[in-house]
Amino acid sequence: MRLETNPALRAGTGYDIHRLVPGRRLVLGGVTIPSQVGLAGHSDGDALVHAVIDALLGACALGDIGHHFPAGDPAWRDADSLGLLVTACRRAGDAGWRVCNVDATVLCERPRLAPFLPAMQGRLATALGIAESCVSVKAKTNEGLDAVGRGEAIAAQAIMLVVGGER
Ligand code: MG
Repeated sequence: MRLETNPALRAGTGYDIHRLVPGRRLVLGGVTIPSQVGLAGHSDGDALVHAVIDALLGACALGDIGHHFPAGDPAWRDADSLGLLVTACRRAGDAGWRVCNVDATVLCERPRLAPFLPAMQGRLATALGIAESCVSVKAKTNEGLDAVGRGEAIAAQAIMLVVGGER
């Protein structure tokens, strides 16, 4: 038996982690943050936006970020990840889904992200086409533990709710 809610509500989760390396800009949530090191990656390495994209695609059961934006594709080299999020959002919309809200946590030992969280929320809200009040970004350190705690990487988690599915 197929059980459906009406309207259909679906939740999705996303996770990402990128290494911190010298010679790269640190971009999180589409915001450039002053730092001696930045996130390695084929695109701009924005682990927060990547986690949000995977949460969106997961909620819509549309696969994952690697499926939509293959890492080896030259089109995504140094790509602005917010642009990828806009594209993912359009594909979700084409499939009949609309974003309700997103809540994300960035795991980062340094630099301190608190001053940049409102700007990240604003960029994400614009890319998703929803109100800033529907976007939450939180930051935590990893208490000095593991690769994130040693300052070798930054990780992010996200959960998203979408509504729709009338096809
Ligand atoms: Mg990534």
